[in-house]
Amino acid sequence: MQVSASVQPYERVYELVLPESVLGEILRHIKEEYPVEACGIMVGVVEGGRGLVKRVRRMRNALASPHAFWFDVREWMQGILDAQREGLSYIGLYHSHAREQPLPSLSDQHRMLECPGEVWLIVASRPSCEPRLAAYRVDDFGSAVARVRVSVVPQ
Ligand SMILES: [Zn+2]
Repeated sequence: MQVSASVQPYERVYELVLPESVLGEILRHIKEEYPVEACGIMVGVVEGGRGLVKRVRRMRNALASPHAFWFDVREWMQGILDAQREGLSYIGLYHSHAREQPLPSLSDQHRMLECPGEVWLIVASRPSCEPRLAAYRVDDFGSAVARVRVSVVPQ
């Protein structure tokens, strides 16, 4: 998949800021889909290296798999266009792992290389375990996966 320049974040994100309400929405989505990986897009405001997520939008995991996810690119594009109409920027994707660690899988890493600049939030979540969050970014084609700090803030 090619990502056109118009949907890439304008600024590099070093810190992903998640209001508790937004995180709650992501966790509800993950619980509903478990053990299938849940996925969606994050949109908001990028400023000073911080990506503040204002809203998330669920997408259907077209693979319906507990080990992988992907989605209909038209659904993804529609979410980005709707956000842009509201003056919000595309920050990146979230998805869940029905296992202990929020580490990018090999296919996640391959996909991330196709989407430079996007922040990928991975939430490792299983019933009766505290969810673990981690976010990643690839800056350029061919560069390594970098960690992005995740901060959860009240509202
Ligand atoms: Zn993954």
